[in-house]
Amino acid sequence: MNKFSIAIDGPAGAGKSTIAKRLAKKLGCTYIDTGAMYRAVGLYCIWQHVDYRDEAKVEEVIFSLKIDLDTEGERQIIYLNGRDISQAIRTDEVAAAASKVATYKEVREVLVKAQRQMQSEKSVVMDGRDIGTVVMPDATLKIFLTASVDERAKRRFEEYCKRGLTVSMVELTKDIMDRDYQDTHREISPLKKAIDAIEVDTTALSIDEIVDKIMILMEKA
Ligand code: C5P
Repeated sequence: MNKFSIAIDGPAGAGKSTIAKRLAKKLGCTYIDTGAMYRAVGLYCIWQHVDYRDEAKVEEVIFSLKIDLDTEGERQIIYLNGRDISQAIRTDEVAAAASKVATYKEVREVLVKAQRQMQSEKSVVMDGRDIGTVVMPDATLKIFLTASVDERAKRRFEEYCKRGLTVSMVELTKDIMDRDYQDTHREISPLKKAIDAIEVDTTALSIDEIVDKIMILMEKA
């Protein structure tokens, strides 16, 4: 198969990473989780006591970060300056920081450049918020995944339970709605469906059904 790229965008909890990982495995290509890269910047700020609400402060440090992605079997590993931070980035605090730093121009420029570089080197399935619109406008296939807020909160809740964490549905729902607002209302690269993206509502579909649907779309792309 020639080199190809699949862009998967959508709001938090729509199932992007689960679907993207499965697709990459089926197609034998690399999965790139761009959200993890924004989370890495958020985590760095928290660890280094850099106020992530202060754009100038974050822009001062963005060039000193080295973010690398790797895969080990099914697992995606993310390194920040050589340290494995795959687990550390999966907290609500880091998600909120990521969502904030993702509104800064310089941060986006640095990360988008790195993402485009990866696309230029190999076939990829890349997920995020601006993949079909900004990072890979020339993608072979663009998918926009959606699901109702209630369904997304329910999925997050189940994910937390599996990890043995306690969290309230009310808090999760609010968190998802806040992030939706922040992601769709920011000035630079807001979350929106590319005109040529195909929308897939995952609310009532199983993971296998979604993957099969996208595989069929890929055959036709
Ligand atoms: O996908 P995930 O929830 O891990 O992303 C964390 C945050 O990073 C999102 O809420 C979003 O604000 C930001 N993000 C972004 N552009 C991307 C990927 C993520 O702005 N391509």
